[in-house]
Amino acid sequence: MRQSPARLPGHDCPVCPRLVAFRQANRTAEPGWHNAPVPSFGAQDARLLIVGLAPGLKGANRTGRPFTGDYAGDLLYATLKKFNFAAGDYGRSPDDGFRLIDCRITNAVRCAPPENKPTPAEIAACRPFLVEEIASLPRLKAILALGSIAHASVVKTLGERLALRPFKHGSLHALEGGLLLADSYHCSRYNTNTGRLTTEMFEAAVAELRRRLG
Ligand code: URA
Repeated sequence: MRQSPARLPGHDCPVCPRLVAFRQANRTAEPGWHNAPVPSFGAQDARLLIVGLAPGLKGANRTGRPFTGDYAGDLLYATLKKFNFAAGDYGRSPDDGFRLIDCRITNAVRCAPPENKPTPAEIAACRPFLVEEIASLPRLKAILALGSIAHASVVKTLGERLALRPFKHGSLHALEGGLLLADSYHCSRYNTNTGRLTTEMFEAAVAELRRRLG
């Protein structure tokens, strides 16, 4: 495994034309926002990597820290703190002093997509950054995929066959090479409002990782 920091998409990453146009429009409308690829959060010696979908327009795309400033972050960070994967007070802002413990968070797609929906081409185009991210974590033991898109991108990143590793909330996949891949429905407002994901279900998924990682 590599131990150097992963290559990051540049501030003006040109790879996905639709996302570049969206970013440009957001820079014009909201010049004070981050409006750029969002870097991962957490230390590189983490054993747990959480993979989300993409920065929320008014959350990570605004603040520059994954899951920070939108509803999904409220549930994610409260749960990580409950199971000692985080400490401090989550204040919905990158300068809140909140920190992750043995945990790092990234996204399958680094730029905010319109309507929170990256296209398959955009997910594939951003995958090299996920490949580098995963390869750069020397102590990595487990990955928590939030939603089926993140799950599929992780499975492809690791060179495994999706048909043999279907997404299912609560599933644990023992991957070749010893990594554990855990699946959860995404902690989005939509999923929690519709009851697809409850706080208890999400906590159970993170509790299981706490148990496995010790
Ligand atoms: N914010 C993120 O950074 N990622 C998500 O998947 C959702 C919100």
